[in-house]
Amino acid sequence: MRLSKELKLPSISMTGFETPLSTEELAIQNSVHLFAKNVLRPLGQELDKLSAEEVIAPGSPYYSVFAEAAKLGLDSSLLEQLPPEMAVRVESLIGEEMGWGDPGLAISLAAAGFPLEMARAVGNQELMDLCAGKIGCWMITHPNKGSDVTTYDVQRDWAKGAPGNKGNMLATVGKDEIVINGQCSAWVSNGAVAQVALGYLGADYGDGYFAEDGRPNGVAAIIPLDLPGVSKGKPLRKIGQRSLPQGEIYFDNVKIPKRFAVALKDEYYGNHTSAWSYAGTHMGQTFTGVARAAFEMALQYVHERKQGGDLLINHQLTRFRIGDMLRRVELCRGVARRSLAYARMTPEGHAYATASAKVTITQEAMKVVDEAMQLYGGAGTSLEYPIEKLFRDTRAALIEDGENNLLTMRLGFLAQQLYAEGWAQN
Ligand SMILES: Cc1cc2nc3c(=O)[nH]c(=O)nc-3n(C[C@H](O)[C@H](O)[C@H](O)COP(=O)(O)OP(=O)(O)OC[C@H]3O[C@@H](n4cnc5c(N)ncnc54)[C@H](O)[C@@H]3O)c2cc1C
Repeated sequence: MRLSKELKLPSISMTGFETPLSTEELAIQNSVHLFAKNVLRPLGQELDKLSAEEVIAPGSPYYSVFAEAAKLGLDSSLLEQLPPEMAVRVESLIGEEMGWGDPGLAISLAAAGFPLEMARAVGNQELMDLCAGKIGCWMITHPNKGSDVTTYDVQRDWAKGAPGNKGNMLATVGKDEIVINGQCSAWVSNGAVAQVALGYLGADYGDGYFAEDGRPNGVAAIIPLDLPGVSKGKPLRKIGQRSLPQGEIYFDNVKIPKRFAVALKDEYYGNHTSAWSYAGTHMGQTFTGVARAAFEMALQYVHERKQGGDLLINHQLTRFRIGDMLRRVELCRGVARRSLAYARMTPEGHAYATASAKVTITQEAMKVVDEAMQLYGGAGTSLEYPIEKLFRDTRAALIEDGENNLLTMRLGFLAQQLYAEGWAQN
């Protein structure tokens, strides 16, 4: 037991009840916080008021985020130089600040670097050069293949006798070339502005689109989006994360060299689950930051607004509500970090495990944002206050990167699979 000699307020940091951060960690946290405060939050609020077309128009302030982010000098090579536990903490600190600033822009920046991260993960220098400095996106969902992209076991988790869902973006994989036809879904983050994509496609290797068990064959590839036959749809009009430009990308006989593939037939699903888990970890950190932002806004408001003859904070009911929000922010943070550590450090992670953390965090964040809005009273519903934007931004997160009910069902399915292997039968 560690004893305190006197009663003092606890150690507290920007990220709540934090164990002491090193000088280096504090420096990174502070510089990302300033970026979030001075660039992401005001830019996110400005873009929120524009139409989807205006956000992506040439000369839009949206594009400034990439140059500003580059000035921070933060990329995954920095994390690779750190001891694993520290790398997880630093990645969490960065992600939380980004979400605190603006979730739409945080997701946009993460998606922009996704193809490059994949090129680095497979160690392909040609693809790294191809992706560097470009706005990327991650095309995994198709118009008719939303939640179905998260089905891995068609024997036990699919309608009996029905073939799997091969989707609407299809590849014919030849000896040296891949030919792509179809389209991704309108939800692809950065789809409206991306210059390069990490795509997950149904694939025919000369023996049809399905394996014997009915599971679709696939190919994952880095796809430059300036090739002949690529075109874009209109940017998606939506209620939340309006600073994140989404939209369809169409492919009409688009040809890429086979060496642009990052996972062919046998490696496809392993790569798929790793990429999805990587995306999920970003969602966890981002929406922890959003929950904190809403909590801080509410905490400030209840120190300004008087009712019942006193400031709201001086009423016991308000203190309970503020305490309830704070413990939920801490819950988000704890789950986000544990799931990030599991994804980055465990020998064999799984996307369903990361996804389950994303469900907890986004649902808790939604509760915090909702309560913050309620504490603002009528002012919370006004466009003059920033809380309604967080409400819209967070609502989208309950579906983004997998719909939460569906993901929870997949976690139950994972428990079933693990039980069959002997887990939890002590
Ligand atoms: C803000 C945002 C950003 C996104 N970014 C990207 C991105 O970068 N790249 C990308 O590829 N996609 C992206 N998406 C797409 C996202 O992954 C999908 O929207 C999500 O997976 C759900 O798919 P869907 O919208 O087609 O819904 P559907 O799959 O059609 O689901 C509709 C409803 O049916 C239920 N349902 C589905 N399947 C079953 C089942 N088997 N049993 C019972 N109920 C079921 C679901 O729970 C849900 O309530 C993004 C979405 C949003 C909102």
